[in-house]
This record gives sequence, C-alpha cells and structure tokens, in this order.
Amino acid sequence: MAETTDPLKGYRGRARQRLQELGVRVWSEVRILNDQGSTFEGVILPRSETADDLHVVVKLATGYNVGLHIDRIREVEELGFKEAVYKIPEQEFPHGPDLPKVTLLGTGGTIASRLDYRTGAVIPAFTPGELYGAVPELADLCNLTTRKIFGVFSENMGWEEYATLAQAIGDEIEAGVDGIVIGHGTDTMGHTAAVLSFMVQNSPVPIVVVGSQRSSDRPSSDAALNLIHAVRSAAYGDIAEVQICMFGPTSDQYGLLHRGTRCRKMHSSYRSTFRTVGDIPLCRVSASDFGSLTHEYLPRNPHRKVKIDPVYDDRVTILYYYPGMKPDVVDALVDQGYKGIVIAGTGLGHVNKPVFPALERAIAKGVHVVMTVQTLWGYAQMYVYDTGRDLLDIGVVPLDNMLPETALMKLGWVLGHTHDHDEVQKMMRHSYSHEITEREPHNGYLILQGGLPETEEFVLSQWK
Ligand code: ASP
Repeated sequence: MAETTDPLKGYRGRARQRLQELGVRVWSEVRILNDQGSTFEGVILPRSETADDLHVVVKLATGYNVGLHIDRIREVEELGFKEAVYKIPEQEFPHGPDLPKVTLLGTGGTIASRLDYRTGAVIPAFTPGELYGAVPELADLCNLTTRKIFGVFSENMGWEEYATLAQAIGDEIEAGVDGIVIGHGTDTMGHTAAVLSFMVQNSPVPIVVVGSQRSSDRPSSDAALNLIHAVRSAAYGDIAEVQICMFGPTSDQYGLLHRGTRCRKMHSSYRSTFRTVGDIPLCRVSASDFGSLTHEYLPRNPHRKVKIDPVYDDRVTILYYYPGMKPDVVDALVDQGYKGIVIAGTGLGHVNKPVFPALERAIAKGVHVVMTVQTLWGYAQMYVYDTGRDLLDIGVVPLDNMLPETALMKLGWVLGHTHDHDEVQKMMRHSYSHEITEREPHNGYLILQGGLPETEEFVLSQWK
C-alpha cells in the first residue's frame, strides 16, 4: 500500500502552492537553499492535514526533520525521487482449532501505529495478518479477529465513542468470544477503562485495554510486549472485568493488570507509566504465566450474562480546585448548562469559602456536585474540618477514594440514568466496580506510589 496518492500529501494553502511552483513533491530528494545562504539536503515529508500551511518539512540525512518556512526558501533542486512504500509483511493469521477466540477492537493511539523514522510517516498496523506479521507470538495464543472501531488519538475519544465501544464489546460477547482486547491511546486510557467499567457490567470474559508508549518500530517499544500480555490475559486470564494491561515497573519481564476504575497514567513518556491508585494491581502477567496479586475480582464465567448500559449525559465537568478560585467559575459552568461538577478538592475534600455560595446556587438549580481529592490516594473525609462539614451541609456529595477522572466518567454515566438528586447520590456512592473501596491497602501507598524498585520488589515477592 503506497502511503500517498496525492503528490503533495498533507500540504495545503500557501505551502502547497509554493511546492507546486518549485516543481517538487512529497518524497522528492532535494537540496534547498534558504535566504540566509544555508543549504539543506533531504527528503520532503508528507504533512498532517492539521499542520500549518507555511512550512515544508524535510527529513535530513542525519534523521532529523526540519521545518522550512516557505517565504525563506530561495531555490530548490530536485536530486531524485523515491516514494516510500510501507507494508508490514502480511501473513495469514493461522487458525488453531483448540485456541481461544479473542477479538481486538481498535480505537487508535500509538499501539495502532508504526512510525517510519526515515520518512516520519505513520501507518496503521492493524489487520490480523499485519499483527501476525509484526507479532507472530499472537498466533500461539489465540484465534484473533480484529475490528477497527475508530482510528483516533485518545484525546479524541468522548462520550459517543464510549457508547459505541461498549456496544461493540456487547456484540462480541454475544458472539461468544473468550476475551476482548481494546487497543487504545494511553493518554486517556484511564478514562475509557473507567467508563467501560460502568457501561459494561457482569462480563463473562476479560476486557483488556492496552496501548503503548512507544511505537513498534522503536527498539525500546513496549507495543509487542503489551499486546502479547493483553492477548494472553484476554484469552486465558481469570479476571472478567475491564482492566488495563501495560508495561510493568522496570524490566521487560512482565506487564501489570490494573482495575479499570483505579488506574492512572502517571508519566508522560516512561513505558512504565500506569499505576493502580488507592489499591494494588490485580495481577502480573508474563509470557508464560499469571501471578495474581489479589483474589477480589469477578472471575471468568462463560455463563454470566453481560449487561451493556451505554447511556450518558455529557453535561459534566471537572473542577480542579486551586487557592484563590473565584465563585464565578462555578456560576459560569452552571450558566453554560452543566449538570454535574466533580471537584478535585484539596486535602480531605475542600474548597475556599468564597466558592460556597456559588456551589449552593448550583445545587439549588439542580446541578450535582461531588467531591474527590487531588491527593489521589486517600479519602474525602468531609466531616473532619468545618470547611468539609459546611460543604456537606450545602449538598456536596463526598466520593470517598474515587479517583477524580473515574468520578467524572461515572457522573456522566449516572446522569444518563437519572437527574433525581437522591438517586444520583445513591448511585454515585454505590461502588459498582471497586471505584470506592472500604480501605486502601496498608502497603499500597507506601509500596505502589510509583517507586519503581519498591514496586518491583513487591511484585516479585508475590511471584510464586
Ligand atoms: N497521544 C497518544 C494517544 O493517547 C499516545 C499513545 O497512544 O500512547 O492516543
């Protein structure tokens, strides 16, 4: 499959016009002279449709890309032309009569991409044949079907996509799969895993969300390993909940399964970026075995009937409290029609006094206001200080140790069912999928707060 049919792929407006005038195109090997007398030799790269129309991007022989402003380009000499053709060797995914059936639902993200560093182009690797070509180990694990549901980076996931995904999961379960893997960008993976934990209940089989921090062409990529671990967990794992499967603490030895409602991306670029917060991870998964870290989970049971409940009201938002916040922030949200506000408060669940009247006005207008804590670990305990007690009196609902993002996802889902204050409060405080836990494990914060050596030591100590 050629990457481009348009000779000026991605170039628009003035940049497109300039390249046409200069008589060169994407994949031309060029020598460019700029208005300061510097020359650049390299290959003209395709651009993304959302990029500006003022720069031409050239891949230099050093491997670096430079963006050259079109007004500063004096001369261009075409030295050659070599269209890059990308194809992941596609081989038919072998059918193993006795292997479990797994469906991979693709939503996009880095895991669905393969980046060519010579040219900078990104191509999707997705069909079972492509995946088999890239990660042949998958064929030893299962019979794999793939379905591309979306092809987006995860900041573009939203309520409509969550509902579609939940429905697709339901369809696959009805069709009798033994496990589901969802390929997803890591940035908002926690949000998706949380909302699916509410929209998909009573699953008979594992639903494993997986991504990668580094694309599969990079030597340090976590894509293949995460995928193998996720497929293995979907095919053979015992946890029939929505879970995230990502790189373990340090080495390439194992991945960790984290509960969908209790997981967070904690580092923008480390492969070991996901942490279970307020609890310990569910399980360790390696190429050869599983090491359960808890027994509190919904076990696989093929006879259980799944309940798909993909309702939502997207008029929900999250307010990350900061000292000096003014009440007008809350008033503006109410005026804009928001029906649910999750506050990530300080300490045990606080905001400053000037905001109180605005919260009172919001609640009087039927807006649902719930409280979580910015510390992430620990509980909103609003009866300890006057501030908390006053907020409770106003009608702010404490959510104990529910993570702020999980609370946001849950509030949107709950408001899809009801706007009745008591009912909303009841549903928000009911724990459907361990989003509220009675206590956090004594060693959880100390060990699993993110200290890699401590985490590694803990996980390996459980390795039977
Ligand atoms: N920006 C990407 C995303 O979340 C990053 C990734 O896939 O890990 O979609």
